[in-house]
Amino acid sequence: MAQLIDGKALAAQMREQMAAQVTELCAKGVTPGLAVVLVGDDPASRVYVSMKEKACAATGIYSAEHKLPAETSQQELLELVDQLNNDERIDGILVQLPLPDHIDEDCVLNAISPLKDVDGFHPYNVGCLVTGHPTFRSCTPYGVMKMLESIQYDLDGKEVVVVGRSNIVGKPVALMCLAENATVTICHSRTKDLPAHVGRADVVIAAVGRPEMVKGAWIKEGAVVIDVGINRVGDKKLVGDVEFDAAAEKASYITPVPGGVGPMTITMLLFNTIQSATSRVTAK
Ligand code: NDP
Repeated sequence: MAQLIDGKALAAQMREQMAAQVTELCAKGVTPGLAVVLVGDDPASRVYVSMKEKACAATGIYSAEHKLPAETSQQELLELVDQLNNDERIDGILVQLPLPDHIDEDCVLNAISPLKDVDGFHPYNVGCLVTGHPTFRSCTPYGVMKMLESIQYDLDGKEVVVVGRSNIVGKPVALMCLAENATVTICHSRTKDLPAHVGRADVVIAAVGRPEMVKGAWIKEGAVVIDVGINRVGDKKLVGDVEFDAAAEKASYITPVPGGVGPMTITMLLFNTIQSATSRVTAK
């Protein structure tokens, strides 16, 4: 039976350490600052933004929220981004996605200064990850890496199978595992014989967005299973992309949903913001 990798507990432990780091930074005259920009009133985005604000407050990070109406023009949003790029109190800028249809997301994300891109989505930071000189790493995949680190898992020479190739999870997590010398396979909707790929993995990372589509029977005995998926089924229940109970029978370690990768994402956002603020101290 698999042991749980408890993301909630790991996140809490990391946030405690980060609060101490923030206290030290403040003593040096630098309060880490995160600007959170929300355009429109998508209910899920509002929940995420308020979770991020609460996490900042609990860690001592200054958070500046910018809630803009859905009809905000792209130009107005770009002007706000420019203002935040030049705001000395702000170390990190987060523009909550998705943006309304009339705004080009790539254009806005590319306008964020790479030095304040704590989400790690700017092509410069993505390029740094690809070339093996990571700067800001995107938060969910970085959280996954911290979870593997927490069980002292050595990826060197291991077979990692990532299911999903999105820019925010699948591709960056694959690159991060590659940087740790794993042999990485990225699967997607056109992959033939997904069970065969998953079946040879020492580590399975599922980021698909389909409830329980990775079956427990596919998992190799003793594999580590990281489930990034968050899927709402029925009214309230959240399930991952992996068939949890059956996978837990075979795996050595598994992440739960909820309480697994989810809490790590915001934690890594705070982590990146503090990293950014630290460079402000060094530059002083
Ligand atoms: P996307 O929808 O952007 O990507 C899903 C990926 O899954 C695509 O690459 C797609 O392939 C692939 N896929 C779809 N169907 C299949 C299939 N039948 N077989 C194999 N691959 C398939 O999702 P995200 O990466 O943004 O998110 C994935 C999940 O992770 C979601 O449940 C999301 O809610 C969750 N998530 C959780 C976060 C957290 O904080 N824990 C943060 C971000 C996401 P193709 O490219 O061919 O279409």
